Amino acid sequence: MGEYIEDKVILEETTLRDGDQSPSVNFLLEEKLHIATILSDILTEDDSIDAGFPAASYLEFESVKEISKVIAKNYIMGISRMKVEDIDTTYEALKYTPKRRIGLIIPTSPTHRKMKLNVDQGQLIDLAVASVIHAKKYFDEVEVGLEDGTRTEMDFLYRLIEKLIINGVKSVTIADTIGASMPWEYGDIFKKIKNNVPNIDKLKSLGAHCHNDLGLALPNSIEALRNGANKVGCAFNGLGERAGNTATEEILMYLKLKHNYKDNNKAEYNYSRITECSQVVEKYSTIQVQKNKPIVGENCYLHESGIHQDGILKNKETYQLFDPAIVGYKGEIFAFGKHSGRNGLKYKLEQLGFDSSRVDMNLLFQEFKSFAEVKKRVTDEDIVYLVENLA
Ligand code: MN
Repeated sequence: MGEYIEDKVILEETTLRDGDQSPSVNFLLEEKLHIATILSDILTEDDSIDAGFPAASYLEFESVKEISKVIAKNYIMGISRMKVEDIDTTYEALKYTPKRRIGLIIPTSPTHRKMKLNVDQGQLIDLAVASVIHAKKYFDEVEVGLEDGTRTEMDFLYRLIEKLIINGVKSVTIADTIGASMPWEYGDIFKKIKNNVPNIDKLKSLGAHCHNDLGLALPNSIEALRNGANKVGCAFNGLGERAGNTATEEILMYLKLKHNYKDNNKAEYNYSRITECSQVVEKYSTIQVQKNKPIVGENCYLHESGIHQDGILKNKETYQLFDPAIVGYKGEIFAFGKHSGRNGLKYKLEQLGFDSSRVDMNLLFQEFKSFAEVKKRVTDEDIVYLVENLA
């Protein structure tokens, strides 16, 4: 294919746009700049930061503009409706950076066409083409996001995408806007587009943008990659409208550990700031990360049961898919409760500065067990108390 990079996945990070659209999230300008700085370091120069929707409000405009002035490494994208004013405003916000992209939102499904724009298929194609032509005046990189693309007639998608490419669009994203697709259905859409759009090889990227309404955002994104997509939209902590988007930390670790089942993704991400970025996004978004959230949840690298603690002490690979240090995790490896075991407790004592050979471990373990039966979690302070008060 032309400019299409076969084995390099491109990320379109949307914490600052789709994430910011989550109910009760409102990132302030300084917060957006802080998050953008960390994202920029984690991502590669081929990836883009979806910085916001400049025409939405004055503050949104200002924040997209400021991000584009501060971040030079990555592409900065602003999204826009198919309106001349929106496109002009998006350019005004992004004119300070050469690495600018516009993401035109094109509502394609029958419901979206009728309810949002009241246009038929032909009228939508005309509107989309006119918008692309206008956007091309300002942007080398015009992207289109086909909103509710997964509930759109396939033959219409082929015709629309062909026309968009003829008019200079470099990137097309098929959005599963309401999280309606099953992984095999989503993969099939990409396979069919690859096979049925005659000029598809002129694209630089074909992208997925998934929502997690049925918990399928990550598997859907992976199926898209397995069937010809090379770009994935994602947001930290899985933020985004409703149940959110594909989580950036999850797609990153998929790429590191499993993509193509070999080291085929050439991208060099800075994985070591994943934990930090998640925590910063958690704080500014005010949306707490659930404890068992993959990759960044508080429980992900903690082992409570005795059998697991013993295994981890012998070799971390017994019960851990990857070394938590990869994602910058520096926390505890053991939690204590009624399932915990003697070896884990002994390890903890040493960590707390006790000489376990001078402690009656049988007695301590007995005391610990009866204490742990009635507590949700046994803390370091509890363990110190138990040792110091052994009969
Ligand atoms: Mn979305």
